[in-house]
Amino acid sequence: VKTRGGRRWSAFDAELRAENERRRTLEEELRRAIPAGEIEPWFQPVIDSTTGGITGVEVLARWNHPEQGLLSPAAFVPMAEELGLIRAIDEAVFDAACARAAPWVADGLIEHVACNVSPRDLLDPGFSRKLIGRLAGTDLPATALTVEITETFLLQDMALARRHIERLAAKGVRVALDDFGTGYSNLRALMHLPIQTVKLDRSLIADVGRDARVSKLVASLLHAARALGVSIIAEGVEDEGQALFLRSAGCDRMQGYFFARPMSADAMEAQLLEARPQ
Ligand code: C2E
Ligand code: CA
Ligand code: CA
Ligand code: CA
Repeated sequence: VKTRGGRRWSAFDAELRAENERRRTLEEELRRAIPAGEIEPWFQPVIDSTTGGITGVEVLARWNHPEQGLLSPAAFVPMAEELGLIRAIDEAVFDAACARAAPWVADGLIEHVACNVSPRDLLDPGFSRKLIGRLAGTDLPATALTVEITETFLLQDMALARRHIERLAAKGVRVALDDFGTGYSNLRALMHLPIQTVKLDRSLIADVGRDARVSKLVASLLHAARALGVSIIAEGVEDEGQALFLRSAGCDRMQGYFFARPMSADAMEAQLLEARPQ
């Protein structure tokens, strides 16, 4: 029994070693990928519920890995956060996204560009000042930028979070509370911070228009947000039933596979030019 157990142990050991090895390789590749420009901004259209037109884009990071192909944030963002590389990634994605999207804004093809920032960034007292400085180095007007944040650290230091939001707002940059309705983002942040936009998480949207309780809850969230003067974006809209319900419930903007999946900058630009009113 001891031998068998021992053998099983060593097989487990070998697997663990292989896993650690793969991880270390990916870590080294990630460190190299950032300066090499392999982390790219992709874009997903945000739709105006009233007109059905594209009003803006959300920037979503993709790692164009030389061997593994296109990797989603789930494959590298948590690791980047652990390694302290997320700031460098967010900055690289931000700069590249502004460079691509600024002309779209200047040409009147879209009105706003939303970038995700790691909740960790917000713990840095210099975060908003640095972001404003970075933005000044791009051609994107401050009033076209939205920064999407999650609640994770907001409530740890409410005064700091407020300072960031107010400093950004003074320049015209909006702050959106992402993943609203999940454990990470809930009413407390909305109640206590001067947030301008809320993004309803797709877990809330999934059953909207199908399940009466969910529909009522979402409708009253929309109502509450309106009462606060907060703009709402529903994410993860995957079918027409959801879109119709959300529009009738007064949701300003929508985003999801029903309208468009995230796409490369070139594909986004082609679509915007095609949709341009003649
Ligand atoms: P998020 O900010 O909540 O972004 C929305 C996610 O939902 C995206 O996943 C998007 O592709 C996906 N999505 C959009 N529409 C639909 C739909 O109709 N159905 C379904 N099932 N999914 C939909 P993605 O691109 O994999 O990004 C995952 C998360 O990674 C993002 O969630 C965001 O938190 C994070 N992330 C993305 N880009 C960046 C970045 O540049 N910096 C940082 N720090 N985080 C990022
Ligand atoms: Ca987001
Ligand atoms: Ca979200
Ligand atoms: Ca999310």
